[in-house]
Amino acid sequence: MDTDKHLTDGAPEPFTADDYRARMERAAAEAADAGLAGLLVAPGPDLDWLTGYRPTAATERLTLLVLAAGQDPVLVVPALEAPDAARAVGAPALTLRDWTDGKDPYAVTAPLLDVAGRFGVSDNAWAMHLLGFQKALPGTSYVSLTEALPMLRAVKDDAELRRLAAAGAAADAAYEEIVKVPFAGRRETDVAADLAELLRRFGHSRVDFTVVGSGPNGANPHHEAGERVIEDGDMVVLDFGGLLHGYGSDTSRTVHVGEPTEEERRVHDIVREAQAAGCAAVRPGAACQDVDRAARAVIDDAGYGAYFIHRTGHGIGVTTHEPPYMIEGEQRPLVPGMCFSVEPGVYLPGRFGVRIEDIVTVTADGGRRLNTTAREMAIVG
Ligand code: ZN
Ligand code: ZN
Ligand code: ZN
Repeated sequence: MDTDKHLTDGAPEPFTADDYRARMERAAAEAADAGLAGLLVAPGPDLDWLTGYRPTAATERLTLLVLAAGQDPVLVVPALEAPDAARAVGAPALTLRDWTDGKDPYAVTAPLLDVAGRFGVSDNAWAMHLLGFQKALPGTSYVSLTEALPMLRAVKDDAELRRLAAAGAAADAAYEEIVKVPFAGRRETDVAADLAELLRRFGHSRVDFTVVGSGPNGANPHHEAGERVIEDGDMVVLDFGGLLHGYGSDTSRTVHVGEPTEEERRVHDIVREAQAAGCAAVRPGAACQDVDRAARAVIDDAGYGAYFIHRTGHGIGVTTHEPPYMIEGEQRPLVPGMCFSVEPGVYLPGRFGVRIEDIVTVTADGGRRLNTTAREMAIVG
């Protein structure tokens, strides 16, 4: 695999209103191709990616981007939020339609919608709002935007790839530092706080997770960090990430406090080999499930298949978890520009866990890792 870092050079150019206009046009066209009358996009990653608008207040008031082929994009927005919305980078590409408290926001929006149409709705839209539309427009029907257009945000352009590479390089820099701090005798939460501080120091604007799973806690893939005091002899799963320039990082390494046992070393080697096999399976035209199968085969063959209890990977972009998923049954082909994690693990209940994770981008002839720190087990103090 090619691991050059040319994509990390320099600070990215900000996205422009034209960039967002192009994304909205493409989304509307893809919705039409999928037989939808349009897309209804609530605040969250889809709205962020389509417009650059990230409302700060989580609000029960309806905010909604309405996209339909052949129509100008309209952002329905509460009047008190309209000044902020008008300052979003993508705002010049939008028509704002505001509504004031006391008005029915569904009645305000209804004239924009085909009364008999089928619409894709962002997965994170409030059920309350969807129910409001169903009541106001009983002839309409709705499907999950992610189910209808699973690949909408999956293929990244060069500007996005540069941001993802920069986020990966910053997470790598944090890892290089965290292996220098003392682990033994400190709580998991102390090491997690160090990790968060390092991610911010290397440019992250947001930290999404800092998993520090020591000893038996490492066997629980969902363990974040707790009060357990890390001891000499512990395996420690580290998994951390967040956003830099609006795009995500997510990487795992498993370190050991002091000298590992033969079994710990063996399990770590198996996971490392599985992770390499998953990455080696990345190429255009391969199916997402092929990446999962390649990684899983190594762990199965070594006799630890029952202890690899999650999918091999997930997409990453303006969020740290999104389609496509590297999982059995996902037959969509890999396409150059897709970015996703390859993160097999082995979890031995009550004992320890090992996970190794890199973000990989699909290139014309294979895959390129965006995380390049050593995958050999680091020995920490
Ligand atoms: Zn140990
Ligand atoms: Zn992770
Ligand atoms: Zn991940």
